[in-house]
Amino acid sequence: MPQVNDTQENLQKCICGQCPSYNQCMGDKTEGLYCARGKSSCEFEKNGCVCGACPLTSEYGLEQLYYCEIGRDE
Ligand code: SF4
Ligand code: SF4
Repeated sequence: MPQVNDTQENLQKCICGQCPSYNQCMGDKTEGLYCARGKSSCEFEKNGCVCGACPLTSEYGLEQLYYCEIGRDE
């Protein structure tokens, strides 16, 4: 499985900001693109994950969810 690259282009495609689990701490740290950058440094509640609807999921064939918790896809 190809690794997701940490690029500006991919960051713009990331929809973590629209996710119900994405919280203020994550926003304050301008986190996102967890599937490439690794897990969040924030504490958060799992209220759902929208990675399945992200264009990068089909582009890279991602098979998991909650990359903010499990870290980068590798
Ligand atoms: S798959 Fe999830 S973590 Fe990765 S860019 Fe898309 S929304 Fe963000
Ligand atoms: S990785 Fe999934 S659960 Fe975490 S913020 Fe992004 S879309 Fe939400």
